[in-house]
Amino acid sequence: MTNRRHFLRNASLMTVAGVWAANNKLSAATESALSKSNVKKDFGLQIYSLGRELAPDVAGGLRRVAQMGYTSIELAGYNAAEGRIGAVTMAEFKKFADDAGLKITSTHVNPPMREYNRDNFEQAKEFWKRASDHHAAIGCKYIIQPGQPVTRSVEEVAFVGEVFNEAGKIAKAAGITFGFHNHEGEFQRVVPGGTEMLPLGRGRAPQGAKMIYDGMMEATDPELVVYELDVYWAVFGQQDPVALMKKYPNRIRLLHIKDVAVLGESGMMNFQKIFETGYANGIEDFIVEFEPNFAGGTLFEGVKLCADYLLNANFVK
Ligand code: MG
Repeated sequence: MTNRRHFLRNASLMTVAGVWAANNKLSAATESALSKSNVKKDFGLQIYSLGRELAPDVAGGLRRVAQMGYTSIELAGYNAAEGRIGAVTMAEFKKFADDAGLKITSTHVNPPMREYNRDNFEQAKEFWKRASDHHAAIGCKYIIQPGQPVTRSVEEVAFVGEVFNEAGKIAKAAGITFGFHNHEGEFQRVVPGGTEMLPLGRGRAPQGAKMIYDGMMEATDPELVVYELDVYWAVFGQQDPVALMKKYPNRIRLLHIKDVAVLGESGMMNFQKIFETGYANGIEDFIVEFEPNFAGGTLFEGVKLCADYLLNANFVK
């Protein structure tokens, strides 16, 4: 209920901000006034949240992100062939982030294959080597695979774990830590020798069925692979993110703080419990993600409303 109370307490601010967003005419002065906060807190932004709005002026956009109260960013849009983030070179991006006062905590990097197998294992290792080198060079702490590799059986999940361990070794040698970010599919189950994932909510799981997320945890070395729990997708996958954090306190080392749209508005996410458990587990990286299909204003405005929610939440440090 505390979360609900908190939501109501902030409802007036959100309504005001929502009206501004709807008017789509945030003056610089208004934006600056709303940004002014005496409290300094520590949370990051996955830049995917800004969709196409960041590209025209990356340097200026990152300054705006910092002014909103974000202290770090997680990259997206890595181009391995060019060694760029979108149209910007790694070194330029690092400079823009430094100039804005933002740390680059982590990066989301998709390998060229959707499915790992023995035939593409070497190609996968080469990819992770190149991507690790590019990101370690700009001081990024974590390199994270954001999408679920195809797995149809317990054995295929174990093989993904083998690839992740290799990627973890390669990353570690380069000076960066490898990790994995979930959506909802990882909470489906597979069976030994299976040919497909078993959808959620279809009665009792058959003999030998294992949740893919648990299988990934078992198959990966804690010294080599960390997990970034997306709390929204966990709920979408019918899981309690707090229970997962308590089950895997040393494995889940980053969080994606996400809601249906603006943080706290849906009322379905217990962010107070999530933050409290995160702090208790020693998690340092709380990264806001906002789906860039926001209808209530520009993406910058939506991302700002998320920051305002966290700045006003007494459970966020
Ligand atoms: Mg996410």
